[in-house]
Amino acid sequence: MPLDTTTFHNVINGELTSSPSTRHSINPANKEPNPEVPVATQEDLDRAVSSAKTAFKTWSKKSYAERRKAILAYADAIEANKDELTALLTKEQGKPLTQAAVEVGMAVTWTRQLPTIEIPETVLQDDDNAKVIQRYVPLGVAGAIVPWNFPVLLAIGKIIPAVYTGNCVIVKPSPFTPYCGLKLAELAIPHFPPGVIQAISGGDDLGPLLTEHPGIDKISFTGSTVTGRRVMASCAKTLKRVTLELGGNDAAIVCDDVDLDKVIPNLAVLSFLTSSQICMMIKRLYVHEKIYSTFLEKYVSFVKNFPVGDGTAADTFIGPIQNGMQYEKAKDLFSSIKSENLTPALGGSITDSKGFFVPPTIIDNPPETSRVVQEEPFAPILPVLKWSDEDDVVARANAADSALAASVWCKDPERARRIADQLDGGSVWINTHFEVSPFVPFGGHKASGIGTEWGLQGLTQYCNSQSLWIKKV
Ligand code: NAD
Repeated sequence: MPLDTTTFHNVINGELTSSPSTRHSINPANKEPNPEVPVATQEDLDRAVSSAKTAFKTWSKKSYAERRKAILAYADAIEANKDELTALLTKEQGKPLTQAAVEVGMAVTWTRQLPTIEIPETVLQDDDNAKVIQRYVPLGVAGAIVPWNFPVLLAIGKIIPAVYTGNCVIVKPSPFTPYCGLKLAELAIPHFPPGVIQAISGGDDLGPLLTEHPGIDKISFTGSTVTGRRVMASCAKTLKRVTLELGGNDAAIVCDDVDLDKVIPNLAVLSFLTSSQICMMIKRLYVHEKIYSTFLEKYVSFVKNFPVGDGTAADTFIGPIQNGMQYEKAKDLFSSIKSENLTPALGGSITDSKGFFVPPTIIDNPPETSRVVQEEPFAPILPVLKWSDEDDVVARANAADSALAASVWCKDPERARRIADQLDGGSVWINTHFEVSPFVPFGGHKASGIGTEWGLQGLTQYCNSQSLWIKKV
């Protein structure tokens, strides 16, 4: 039977449950209401925590192989419903169907591949005196707080590491995009004991209830840096483990030896994908002065052909901004084009329409101090900046408070590596950007976060390290 994408419930203790009140978000392409979702209460959360604690007693004792088996069956269930999830994702998030399908496909891949990573037990000492083994033990109950830009992949990217390592997880989707998150937990019901994977949806006050809850042992949070600071302060009270994946203002440095016709399509896609609402999109594009004019001309002619519109239309590349709050933020940032006397090379103004649409906009060499360079836009507006001196451009790239990721685009491998080696960021790429893999840890430096997700290191962040001393007697 195809997945029902018209009715939505919290998933608590293996059951679909409702709450006394409901709410809905809107489809950002036309502002029509999406279906009602529950508004979880403190009591709902308490029940979910209590169910997770009970489930943890047995789930944590299962072998990795047993947990892997359940996860692989879950992957099949997600894959069997990928078309329904893709359509739902476009309806709630706004991203074009093609990009929604890629996100759902990645979620299936992550579900299958994360549990192939072996969690090692390492013998640190083995002599006449003692054998000492370092091993990883699960934490207990994890809270997964998910943002609205990648609601499927980022939920799965927390659920699977949590449960594979023996924890139970409670997912809290963003109030702007609650739908796919609830369905992911619903799809898990037949494959896991009650309480292992749960999801509760609510309003703005639900996140703090999770971070404050004494029964939750770890919070994995993805969202803005401002909220990340609040999450960490709140988690400190109960000494919860915390992983924070926060905002970025990624720089890409383009050297003068690149093949323009080859790199421009890649750079353009990696600046405007999902209407630039991705933490690791290129948000500052530094182009060598020797090629700047030709680059800008070619870049603009490429980007101006990106079709903007409803994500359900076959050729759309730039869908709407996901929500009204972010749309208003984009309009405010666009107002700085006039107030700061900036020069748009493409676009530059937003016209209100039936959805939250923003045209791709490129700003020609704005000052470093301008808002469009300093702030994370999370909207399709990109500053292209000139550089000539290597040390200077590295300093400018590294000047941001955030340091999520950065890239260098260069044919000369030695020069590329020299520049890359000096860049701040949890991910640094040469001749690409926004490459991710379930096997590769990712996370931010500086104000872009604490800790990592994915890869062996990401998995062990759902565990405590335990040193087992076996005295030889
Ligand atoms: P947000 O911080 O507003 O919200 C993120 C989540 O936190 C939502 O589920 C929200 O309901 C919840 N929340 C809000 N206040 C809370 C509180 N006080 N305590 C606990 N939870 C709370 O972020 P957003 O607007 O949904 O997402 C956009 C931001 O996320 C951007 O800055 C983007 O760069 C960042 N992001 C980072 C990554 C990464 O991996 N580094 C990935 C995607 C998005």
